[in-house]
Amino acid sequence: MCKHVLNAQVQIYAPCCKQWFDCGECHREVSDHPIPQRPELVLACKKCKKVFRIDTEDFDPDSDGFCPRCDNHWYIEAELAEEAKEQEELEQLKEDAKDFLKDDIRDIRDAGREKRLRKERARAELDYEEMAIKHFRGW
Ligand SMILES: [Zn+2]
Ligand SMILES: [Zn+2]
Ligand SMILES: [Zn+2]
Repeated sequence: MCKHVLNAQVQIYAPCCKQWFDCGECHREVSDHPIPQRPELVLACKKCKKVFRIDTEDFDPDSDGFCPRCDNHWYIEAELAEEAKEQEELEQLKEDAKDFLKDDIRDIRDAGREKRLRKERARAELDYEEMAIKHFRGW
């Protein structure tokens, strides 16, 4: 299983190394050269293991994008491991932001409550004063 393309359906034959690779990145990791660009690519379906060739210069994804033996749709958008990681990081960031926001909201709410308490306390003190004055006067 290739660690770069998570949903790879075919292996690519690298004629330079005479080896099969799941993706160009896998080849790059073990070699110091790119896979030579040739119009003909030799692929192996991962599902039925059949080897087939495609002509990249005359390629029709609607018909050539399927394994000739088992019809496995191999010409699909690659699900890159790096993208998955990025997506994960993005989700984490969003979660962090949410927590951040929650804290902020709590702070704002706390500040609001404190202000109200302070006001109430001030009013209570005032009442107390007024009461004392009244009582004092009454005496
Ligand atoms: Zn090679
Ligand atoms: Zn790979
Ligand atoms: Zn197949």
